[in-house]
Amino acid sequence: MSDKTVRRFDAGAESFRWEDVPVLDYKSGTAAPFRDITRQTLFKRADLRGELRYFEVAAGGYSTLERHQHTHAVLVLRGMGTCLVGTEVHRIGAFDLVTVPPRTWHQFRAAANAPLGFLCMVDAERDRPELPDPHALSQLRAVPAVAEFLASDDS
Ligand code: MN
Repeated sequence: MSDKTVRRFDAGAESFRWEDVPVLDYKSGTAAPFRDITRQTLFKRADLRGELRYFEVAAGGYSTLERHQHTHAVLVLRGMGTCLVGTEVHRIGAFDLVTVPPRTWHQFRAAANAPLGFLCMVDAERDRPELPDPHALSQLRAVPAVAEFLASDDS
């Protein structure tokens, strides 16, 4: 990404886009499950120790269920959906803020009929996400609201 002072928002695009910012696969080289989600890196500089990314989950899509040592600071910019943070499930919409603490299971899901777009701030240097093993999954599913959240996979 070049150091252009102002990068215009593309108000005409169907998904949120910024001038000269490539729309990338959410993750590459991984078998981690996810659906209908793209990634744009908005800010990434050697002199900043963080990165700001924009993720857009299409209607019915979801991010990977994962946890890691690094934290996420999330600001929803468009649409609506639900998030799992730990064993809590929350409905979220535009301008809500979500904090994902270290080592906390998390997943973002768009509503069935609306996208979910959010900014996510992370450390530039961060550990790799861990996926739940069957034991961790069964522990999560023991919480009814979490079981219901995870079951929306099958829709
Ligand atoms: Mn994560």
